[in-house]
Amino acid sequence: MLVDSHCHLNYEGLVEEQDAVLDRAREAGVGRFLNISTRESEWDDIVATAERNDDVFASIGIHPHNADEHQHVDEDRLRAAVDHPKVIGIGETGLDYYYEHSDREAQQRLFRRHITVCRETRLPLIIHTRDAEDDTLAILRDEMEKGAFPALIHCFTASGEFGDAVLELGLSISISGIVTFKNAKDLQETAARVPEDRLLVETDSPFLAPVPHRGKTCEPAYVADTAKFVAELRDTDVESLAATTTRNFFELFAKAAA
Ligand SMILES: [Zn+2]
Ligand SMILES: [Zn+2]
Repeated sequence: MLVDSHCHLNYEGLVEEQDAVLDRAREAGVGRFLNISTRESEWDDIVATAERNDDVFASIGIHPHNADEHQHVDEDRLRAAVDHPKVIGIGETGLDYYYEHSDREAQQRLFRRHITVCRETRLPLIIHTRDAEDDTLAILRDEMEKGAFPALIHCFTASGEFGDAVLELGLSISISGIVTFKNAKDLQETAARVPEDRLLVETDSPFLAPVPHRGKTCEPAYVADTAKFVAELRDTDVESLAATTTRNFFELFAKAAA
C-alpha cells in the first residue's frame, strides 16, 4: 500500500471528479490520502471530504501565500479546528519567498503559531518552504529549543545542506513528482540518501504531475510513479519503498493509525 501524504482534493481539477480521482488512486494501490488545506475558507470542505471517505485524512492550516489575509488565525482558532478525529496534521504552513504573495513577517508569524499548536497537540507540522532556507531553519531551530515538535518538509526541493540540517532537527522529508523531472539532479541525490525512516512520498496534486504524466492534471494515483522512480534511485523495489514510506507515514501521523 502507498500513501499520498500531500494532495489537494478540493482544488479545481480534482474536486469536480473527486470520487473518480480517489477510485483511480485506490486501483493504483494508494490506500491513504492526506488532504491538505491552505486557507481557512477550505477547512470545512477538507474535513467533510475526510468524513465521507474512510481512507482520507485532513490537515488544517494556512499556506504562506495566504498569510496576509489570515492574520486573525491565532493559536485558539487553530486549536479548535484541529480537534476533529480526521484531522491528523497542521499545515501547510511555512515560508515562500519565491512568489512572496504575502509579507515575509506575516508568513513568519503564522508559521510560528502553527508550530505552537503542533508542540501542544503532537500533530505533525507540514512545512512548505521555497527560496527561504535560512529563515525556515532559523525559525525551526529557535522553536525546537522551546520544545520539540513533529514535522516534515513537504515537496522537498531545497538544497542538500538544508536537507541535512532539517534531518538533524528530527524532521522527515516528503518527495513529490518533481524528483522525476530531468533537471532535478540535486533532488534525486537527496531522495537517494534520506534515511530510510524519514522518507515519505506525495503528489501535491493537482500540481506537478510526474513523468510520464507531465502536462496532465496531477492526481493521487500518480504517487505510484514517483514511488517507482524513488525506489530505483535507492536501489530497492517499489514494494519495499511503499512499505517503508507507509510505515513512516503512520509513525509520523500517529493519529491516523489510532
Ligand atoms: Zn506546498
Ligand atoms: Zn500543497
